Amino acid sequence: DKDWGEQVAVVTGAGSTRGIGRETALHFGRLGASVVAIDRDPIVGEVAAQIRAEGSKAIAITLDVTKDVEIQRALDQVLNEFGHIDILVNNAGITRPNSILNISRSEWELVLATDLTSSFVFTQEVLPAMMKRKYGRIINLSSISGERGGVQNGCHYSAAKAGVMGLTKHVAREMGGYGITCNAVSPGLIETDFGGFTEGDAGERRALLMKEIPAGRSGSAEEVAATICFLASPAAGYITGEIVDVNGGWHID
Ligand code: NAD
Repeated sequence: DKDWGEQVAVVTGAGSTRGIGRETALHFGRLGASVVAIDRDPIVGEVAAQIRAEGSKAIAITLDVTKDVEIQRALDQVLNEFGHIDILVNNAGITRPNSILNISRSEWELVLATDLTSSFVFTQEVLPAMMKRKYGRIINLSSISGERGGVQNGCHYSAAKAGVMGLTKHVAREMGGYGITCNAVSPGLIETDFGGFTEGDAGERRALLMKEIPAGRSGSAEEVAATICFLASPAAGYITGEIVDVNGGWHID
């Protein structure tokens, strides 16, 4: 089996301090993989520096995942520098809590571009290199909102995250013969700075939500990162097209 030390992992949305992407990038680094940490926020440089300090190779790239040209340039740079890409984690995402009655076309398009189209573009860009080596692990971030409608996120977010599941299943089928797997992780309520659950006024609603979650608590970014890293491992090679819920039982299919 492949050694983690031979692997190159690209993680988008790896900047935010308490985020799933940062935890995932750090986790890959601790396994010994080389990490490409991508975010529009230059704070992502910290993440690469920490991974290097902990003993693995890492670079940070600042880009906007809605800009195709920036993505192409970045992935060319990665292939020049590392020679291959084994793992892609499409994690960057935004939400805009808003009623369908108030969502403008431009807000709809921004959320779709960030949360769905960027995963298509990154995937399309890394596939030729993965196909050539007959190996790849692609993990997309969906959401419980995409499975059953949002709690407080807008319909654009739910639609994008449902789209991520369709993209995931399709890529799994089309690329199965090349040793490439494609899976999605679908988190429930995770303690990050995403979405607004951390606002002071969310206290009461939060307590109500906790009653709906069988585990009786929110999840941590580490718990999501560990699931992503398992799906990215050589050992997970026979799992593909799967949507893995990480939600404390909040939604059970
Ligand atoms: P987060 O806001 O902490 O992290 C998201 C990161 O994406 C940020 O670092 C941000 O800068 C980056 N990003 C956003 N737009 C970008 C763009 N255009 N270009 C480059 N980078 C961009 O949020 P998180 O909770 O860590 O979320 C990570 C993923 O998990 C998202 O796809 C989110 O939809 C999904 N998710 C989160 C939860 C949750 O409860 N936190 C639940 C379900 C799904």
